[in-house]
Amino acid sequence: MSRARLIPSLDAVLSHPASEELRRVHGERAARAALRTAAGSLREQLLRDPSLAITSAEEAGAAIVERAAVALGAASLSLLQPVINATGVVIHTNLGRAPLGAAARAAIDAIAKGYVSLEFDLDTGGRGSRHVHAEQWLCETTGAEAALVTNNTAAAMTLALSALAAGREVIISRGELVEIGGGFRVPDVLRASGAILREVGTTNRTRVADYAAAISERTAAVLRVHPSNFRMEGFTERPPLADLAALGQRFDVPVLEDQGSGWLGLDLLDAEDLPTGSRRVLEREPSVRLSVRDGADLVGFSGDKLLGGPQAGIVVGRASLVERVRRHPLMRAVRADKLTYAALEATLDAWRRGTALEDLPVLAMIGMPDARIEARARTLQDRLVTAGVPMNVTLRAGESTIGGGSLPGEVLPTTLVALSADVGADALLERLRRGEPVVVARIEMDAVCLDVRTVLPDQDAALADAVVRAARA
Ligand SMILES: *Cc1c(COP(=O)(O)O)cnc(C)c1O
Repeated sequence: MSRARLIPSLDAVLSHPASEELRRVHGERAARAALRTAAGSLREQLLRDPSLAITSAEEAGAAIVERAAVALGAASLSLLQPVINATGVVIHTNLGRAPLGAAARAAIDAIAKGYVSLEFDLDTGGRGSRHVHAEQWLCETTGAEAALVTNNTAAAMTLALSALAAGREVIISRGELVEIGGGFRVPDVLRASGAILREVGTTNRTRVADYAAAISERTAAVLRVHPSNFRMEGFTERPPLADLAALGQRFDVPVLEDQGSGWLGLDLLDAEDLPTGSRRVLEREPSVRLSVRDGADLVGFSGDKLLGGPQAGIVVGRASLVERVRRHPLMRAVRADKLTYAALEATLDAWRRGTALEDLPVLAMIGMPDARIEARARTLQDRLVTAGVPMNVTLRAGESTIGGGSLPGEVLPTTLVALSADVGADALLERLRRGEPVVVARIEMDAVCLDVRTVLPDQDAALADAVVRAARA
């Protein structure tokens, strides 16, 4: 008898109790497909490999269901999943940067479920422009004349340089020919936009006179890049933006700035309950508003870093330049979608109302009072101890970071919940990562450390439960 005969019918496999669970979790169609594939591969293996120890239809059925479960499980690991960020890195690029505030999420829901005035002029009833959305509030919060929104900052800078400088020279300091991360390298972006790189100065020191000496009739722009992800110390010099802007004005050359973080500043630093450590860190970040005030002609920045909103690239500045950028054919390829506009408008609304520190998660995390972090850490410790987890749970002083290429070297004091278990830190970290909900944490001095600063406050109980499950797994 051919061993292939041992393979049960699909109906028989479907009636296996474990396959019921697969159908419930993954849906009828996907579960059937996985079971059929698993049955096919088992049949082939049975014919090929006489040593395969399967001797009955029951055993074959169980093997098929198990293989299908493994395949379906592996496939769902690559799905986008919510994660509890206990790393203490606020703008964690690998974990999706800025979580959105409640108003932005509500705006997305309201806009997503029906038709919207994306390119429809409510005043005239005729065709409108998507570019008007968010523009008013971008101008209000940054002090600029005009604004436009793209997919991300890499697109915004490439677009702006293509529109203003293709075939001509862009002057940039050798100290700013940086790589931001994820393949965004300033010289490559310039090349991709067709601009010719004209480097001036040295790695550590560049003066206004260096820029001035490079200006010619071939010059299209001066580019200033915020070296957001590293810090240069010692014998360094970099002209204030205002001096570069004055130079640009004298020679009628626009000065563009890649600001990066989207830190708007406003009067957030005046907030009385902002911890000193947080204020000190934020004071070091240049704000878009100051760049505009200091005379930058165009400023590019991200929507999902310190601005605290959705992924987007934003360009603000002089109306005539913004209009030239907007009319470039690439604009169509990098424009933002309606959900981005919805979330961005709601995020900017918090800034203009003065509620950014409370309403935008990224800013609430950075501005969280030390005592509040300590209290939450203590509550987490109590929950774990009360649950009787088989590990040592202690509190220790630690440091959170801003991340996302913002404020390199700057740290915020925090209270860590340190977990030491017999299984070892690596194994515990992996269990947390494979749990549900997924928890991402870090290891410090042989202990898994949880930093509640970056855990959304309404996830505190779920985090405790996830750790209890990981400890007992
Ligand atoms: C983050 C950053 C970028 C890239 O922004 P994306 O929105 O990720 O494209 C570019 N420049 C600077 C200075 C940045 O900090």
